[in-house]
Amino acid sequence: MLSSAELGLAAPTRSMLHPDVETLPRERLEALQLERLRATLKNAYAHVPLHRARLDAAGIAPDDVRSLDDLQRLPFTQKTDLRDHYPFGLFARPVAQLSRLHASSGTTGRPTVVGYTRRDLALWADLMARSLACAGTRRGDVLHNAYGYGLFTGGLGAHYGAERLGAVVVPMSGGSTERQVQLIMDFRARVLCATPSYALAIAEVAEKLGLDLRSSALEIGMFGAEPWSAAMRVEIEQRLGLRAVDIYGLSEIMGPGVACECAVRNGLHGWEDHFLFEIIEPETGRVLPDGEAGELVITTLSKEALPMLRYRTRDITRLARTPCDCGRTHARILRVTGRNDDMLIIRGVNVYPSQIEAVLVGRPGIAPHYQLVVERRGSLDHVAIEAEALPGIPEAQWPALAHDVVHHVKSLIGISTEVAVRGPGCIPRSQGKAVRVRDLRPKEDAGALK
Ligand SMILES: [Zn+2]
Repeated sequence: MLSSAELGLAAPTRSMLHPDVETLPRERLEALQLERLRATLKNAYAHVPLHRARLDAAGIAPDDVRSLDDLQRLPFTQKTDLRDHYPFGLFARPVAQLSRLHASSGTTGRPTVVGYTRRDLALWADLMARSLACAGTRRGDVLHNAYGYGLFTGGLGAHYGAERLGAVVVPMSGGSTERQVQLIMDFRARVLCATPSYALAIAEVAEKLGLDLRSSALEIGMFGAEPWSAAMRVEIEQRLGLRAVDIYGLSEIMGPGVACECAVRNGLHGWEDHFLFEIIEPETGRVLPDGEAGELVITTLSKEALPMLRYRTRDITRLARTPCDCGRTHARILRVTGRNDDMLIIRGVNVYPSQIEAVLVGRPGIAPHYQLVVERRGSLDHVAIEAEALPGIPEAQWPALAHDVVHHVKSLIGISTEVAVRGPGCIPRSQGKAVRVRDLRPKEDAGALK
């Protein structure tokens, strides 16, 4: 981690869009949170039957909440609640009063639908603009937005945030990768917004075209919407010649811009004036102290159309509320390790795909593209890793590369795997969210992966 002096942060507030709020002393931040929590509870209780029924069952009325500690008495909300009340059952406003709807892709079952009032959209743009500024984006920067436009919140979320900041948006969306490369070069984009896996696909296509993105105007990459390892960050920075910044969000809470890294890059500042963050033990729901790893739970504090009470994100991470060198007082969400839903249990060992990624990426001779194939053999889950050789590595050397990966996965993660090294270009490339795991287990057994 670099100190603020080394990073050249002579004026700590330089990159802050809302310096008064971003540096608010904790006592004042918490007073604001309590006031907004009470208003959120009133909104949820008055307009959302599910929340009212659960609060009644827990014996809590909105006026009973007198301190932030009372938050722990409130019931949790889960993704299944959105699905069970599809499409609009958790909305606190009639649909006719909304300005926009987004929905998840819904790979299993019904999609989850989220709604925004005009004020919710303005807040989202503000917080996304704050996040972009926090990462170093400036007014007047050309921002190449390769997040998918459409029902997914990534594209439009980044778009309106960038406009709100005063950046010049190129609304590219995903796909047409050759064209992406050309426009990044021609329009002199300083900022790239994409999923980390797609950023890598852009780098690869550029290299094939003989164009060097390291000599382009790109300086900042805003990468999110999928977990990525520190090794992947180094790989992306080297291939694209930019500073890779982690940004976090989820549509159930708002979309991108819930949290973002600052210049220090020691965790993502979660915007506590509009969200309450907790870490819980997933099995018991018990709130864990700062610094302990568990499931991130978020309560919205200002949203009108879709107030969320203690939403279980399924993301596994840690929280830090110690001061940050950048001068911001807002809590830091340490980088997300993975999602509970993605966790594989291999012979009793909990493994996230990002841990395997950390072993693969940067290993000599191995390209940063991979897939994990999970099968059931007898009563045991079995993981096969499909990796890819870098161009120019003779095929005769691939078995030795595979052996090297088996050895390092065993010694660093503690699981035995089969590894197949394939030729350059054999692993499918990301066009947005990467598919890292192919689960071939019988459906009823694949509980941890759905
Ligand atoms: Zn900071």
